[in-house]
Amino acid sequence: MRELICICCPLGCHIKVDDSDMADLKVSGNSCPRGAKYAKDEVTCPKRVVTSICPVEGGEIQMVSCKTKDSVEKRLIFDVLREIRGKRLLAPVHEGDVIVPDVMGTGVDVVATKTVLRRNDG
Ligand code: SF4
Repeated sequence: MRELICICCPLGCHIKVDDSDMADLKVSGNSCPRGAKYAKDEVTCPKRVVTSICPVEGGEIQMVSCKTKDSVEKRLIFDVLREIRGKRLLAPVHEGDVIVPDVMGTGVDVVATKTVLRRNDG
């Protein structure tokens, strides 16, 4: 039996997953279907949105914040961070710009979460 707190909304339901049969997981304690999906994913293939920062050359600030547009498998987090760290961006960077397309072949893009203008662009 696994016990989890659902992180899909502020209610934070306490969920139990009976994982004695991995082919037929039984979920209880969730107040909505999102919680059931979250709990099953968490037990079978946990995923997270990855947030980081990336260097920007010629920008009004030296770094731009970024994140994966959707959650990726937890086991890939350090590989995703490595790919982001290898990027060198040139200002301007706009919120929503794709920094790493299809990161680690997940089908998920890493996007900027902030706009960084060129130095002296006003
Ligand atoms: S189970 Fe539903 S209601 Fe409960 S925390 Fe998750 S998303 Fe919110």
